[in-house]
Amino acid sequence: MNIHEYQAKDVLKGFGVPVGNGLPALSVDEAVKAAETLGGPVWVVKAQIHAGGRGKAGGVKVVKSIDDVRTEATRILGSTLVTHQTGPEGKEVHRLYIEEGSAIARELYLSALVDRDTSRVAFICSTEGGMDIEDVAAKTPEKIQTLIIDPVTGVMPHHGRRIAKALGLEGALVKQCVAMITKLYAAFTEKDMSMLEINPLVVTADDQLLCLDAKVNFDSNALYRHKDIVELRDFTEEDPMEIEASNYDLSYVKLDGEIGCMVNGAGLAMATMDIIKLYGSEPANFLDVGGGATTEKVTAAFKIILNDPNVKGILVNIFGGIMRCDIIAEGVIAAVKELGVTVPLVVRLEGTNVAEGKKIMADSGLAIIPADDLGDAAKKVVAAVKGA
Ligand code: ADP
Ligand code: MG
Repeated sequence: MNIHEYQAKDVLKGFGVPVGNGLPALSVDEAVKAAETLGGPVWVVKAQIHAGGRGKAGGVKVVKSIDDVRTEATRILGSTLVTHQTGPEGKEVHRLYIEEGSAIARELYLSALVDRDTSRVAFICSTEGGMDIEDVAAKTPEKIQTLIIDPVTGVMPHHGRRIAKALGLEGALVKQCVAMITKLYAAFTEKDMSMLEINPLVVTADDQLLCLDAKVNFDSNALYRHKDIVELRDFTEEDPMEIEASNYDLSYVKLDGEIGCMVNGAGLAMATMDIIKLYGSEPANFLDVGGGATTEKVTAAFKIILNDPNVKGILVNIFGGIMRCDIIAEGVIAAVKELGVTVPLVVRLEGTNVAEGKKIMADSGLAIIPADDLGDAAKKVVAAVKGA
């Protein structure tokens, strides 16, 4: 789960991490009031969306008067920001963050994540902060340093000192860095974060370390023990169909192709997407209906797939292991009858009672195209869509 920058800074502040003063605003008037409360003389008007790269897209503006706060807040609020992380359609700005302006001496990069190779928390840092870290990684990978933390000891002062050295920090800043790393690690582990990115981490003109940006992801599997974090969820930032899917416990990710997929099991769903591509088309989504593909779930899944105007055909690929194929066939028929599916529908069933399942579909009188195996199913749905 993602949260906004201002929420992430609030979480970090709770762990004693230095962040600037700021206030969120939902309207231009609130933005002006926030600026007056903060006092100035320099403010930053920051668009709050779940994507980075706002600065380059005009979503972060440093201003020196209340009038300019009003002007920028008016411009940014309600506008659509297109950054390298939003996709071409961009994201509409519904919230602002008004923050006191900082005098920046240096911009650094610092992040923490769960390293897959070692299954441990890793800190990643670079002297090249503020800009796209992906560019730094591609062009000058030697400027990025990684430090793995052993969970048995947790974070130690020597970790902080090594990061300080990698960042070229000296004197009192080393001590600040050690303290900050300890606090960030505590925040990361106690709140079950999966990613924490401070870009930029700055050294201010008066030699203070300060987190100027904060991007945080939480491990969804651990949210049940963080009610305070769940409350920060902003549904307007999420795809409405993905929210609907989560209400039915369906794993759904919208994609850009034309063939809707309904599959049970994440691995089978991935294989189904691959084979659609192999036969020359593109999947419109990833959708795992899970083990218990009930009529209710199958109906909800069809509704979600059909809500996507790009869908020109549907491929249902279900393995009846615990759930029997005849039950699944009845579920598919009930859903198709209820919704009146008008695009070509190919169904491939395999597993327990597969013969009964196929017979039920054949006898239904519905225009369901049966398929025998995965290759056959993909071939038929691509042919149906390309032919249409
Ligand atoms: P994004 O990463 O989405 O572009 P940031 O929060 O990193 O947004 O802001 C972009 C840039 O704007 C920063 O690299 C920094 O130079 C500047 N900036 C952001 N916040 C402040 C602030 N409070 N004071 C001064 N400059 C800021
Ligand atoms: Mg940033």
